[in-house]
Amino acid sequence: MKRRDFLHATSLTGIAVASGTALLSCENRETEAEASVANAEASFKITPIAIATWNVPDAVGKAWEILSDGGKALDAIEQGCRVEEANAEGQSVGIGGLPDRDGNVTLDACIMNSEGDYGAVVYLQNIKHPISVARKVMEETPHVLMAGKGAEQFAVSLGFEKENLLTEASRKAWEEWKVTSEYKPVINIENHDTIGMLAMDAAGNISGGCTTSGLAYKMAGRVGDSPIIGSGLFIDNEVGGATATGMGEEVLKTVGSFLIVELMRQGMSPQKACEEAIGRIVSKNKERLGDFQVAYIAMNKKGETGSYAIHPGFSVTRATEEEITNTNSKHYISDN
Ligand code: ASP
Repeated sequence: MKRRDFLHATSLTGIAVASGTALLSCENRETEAEASVANAEASFKITPIAIATWNVPDAVGKAWEILSDGGKALDAIEQGCRVEEANAEGQSVGIGGLPDRDGNVTLDACIMNSEGDYGAVVYLQNIKHPISVARKVMEETPHVLMAGKGAEQFAVSLGFEKENLLTEASRKAWEEWKVTSEYKPVINIENHDTIGMLAMDAAGNISGGCTTSGLAYKMAGRVGDSPIIGSGLFIDNEVGGATATGMGEEVLKTVGSFLIVELMRQGMSPQKACEEAIGRIVSKNKERLGDFQVAYIAMNKKGETGSYAIHPGFSVTRATEEEITNTNSKHYISDN
């Protein structure tokens, strides 16, 4: 299931590790009990961390390089996602992504920062780095979501180069698919799919991003969960973040990433919140669970992380000050 057999311990120097031990004043608190809960919450140590869906050590490694140098979570996310977008061998993100039924590679991506700003592009063609265009939408337009030709023109006006994103390998795969034209989603494509990434920097700020070519051989015009706020990604810097991969339609119908963040706000751990969000999808799809995969990853303000999938085969890449690892996620099918 893994593209690269990976367990990479890094030697890390110069990591900015901030200590968030300041105690909150109880002046404005209604009760001492309330203040003591708040103090407990504020007294954990902030250490940078980056996690991503699937086995993507190079992408998470890039994010970590930025975090460990004292960089911002938002920059770590953009630069990390760009690594997979530029990888022509990956057939689910950026250049090399499998096309839609008509042979067009169409990309979706979004990014969200710790201030709650969001930017996204859908149905973007001919531009290799949708995550960077999404960031430009967030930072340089009054809008949050741009689609198709307009998004492409916007990118080109900023100097993004147009290029053919359909590689020979993906064109061949599409030609083969056309022989039967049978649409059946693949549970786990090779070793990875959509890249969803969450990062917390040394200041304790969380950002996230999500980038994909969407479902292989989708109908022309189809857009999945990945670029949609609350579904493929959600960040609330007071609580944490979550992101998704897999059958976007099911994630959209349950607004999965927002759900996970709200569950964490109510006190659930990232792991339990991911399990609950998968549970919502499972309970609505008992009869057709064998047909699709959905997986979530999540992170809270303490840097605690969680992940859960419907099927085996999903893994999470995680970078901390100790190491970069790829581990298999827990999943519903064997747990029940
Ligand atoms: N979530 C993506 C979509 O539905 C695809 C995937 O992650 O497999 O477009």
